[in-house]
Amino acid sequence: MYKHIFFDLDRTLWDFEKNSDEVLNELYEKYNLFSYGIDDCNKFIKRYKFHNEKLWSLYRQNKIEKEKLRDERFKITLEEFSVNCDVLASNLGSDYILLCPKKTNLFPYVHSTLNYLQNRYNLHIITNGFEEVQYQKLENSNIIDYFNQIITSEQVGFKKPSSEIFIFSMQKTFAKNSESIMIGDDLYADIYGAKEVGMDQVYFNPLKHKHTISNITFEINCLSQLEGIL
Ligand SMILES: [Mg+2]
Repeated sequence: MYKHIFFDLDRTLWDFEKNSDEVLNELYEKYNLFSYGIDDCNKFIKRYKFHNEKLWSLYRQNKIEKEKLRDERFKITLEEFSVNCDVLASNLGSDYILLCPKKTNLFPYVHSTLNYLQNRYNLHIITNGFEEVQYQKLENSNIIDYFNQIITSEQVGFKKPSSEIFIFSMQKTFAKNSESIMIGDDLYADIYGAKEVGMDQVYFNPLKHKHTISNITFEINCLSQLEGIL
């Protein structure tokens, strides 16, 4: 019954956590953050993630611009460790954007699953990530050729879970909602958003987070399970 499969990218195919952790570890060493009194790299990463999530949440709600998100996440983290250095924050911020999309860690079974699906369905990406880095991630991790259309929120002007980005995606791919399914790790952006436009959903929940939402079409904890569903 499905003809079009829409995938989220970060934390669904591209292992955002692993890739981001690798970059943050490299930056900790490169800029010798130990010498600034930040003696625990893991603690630094933990606090960065905390602030990054908070800023991303504001960005998703259109309360801050992307530049603000990029500038502030390292600045605030450093300040928490009593390091007040805008140049360092800015260098960390631009290096992070440069290095992160070069990372290629994917979730298990991404290639075999996409290989299986591409012969049976039209595959597309719908992502809230930044235009210039999402294409690099797809190219560098060698999965870009699986997808017909790559739709970014920046290109559309609306972020998931807005109905506008899902409707734009269906128009661009000539897909009907009844023939489409959205696969993503975010209960709000991906699952709620798709449901609102009448699209079926697969919740990718690799860490088996507990939740109370009952009417999701499918839930999986490993991408290999998609072969049993689709
Ligand atoms: Mg995601």
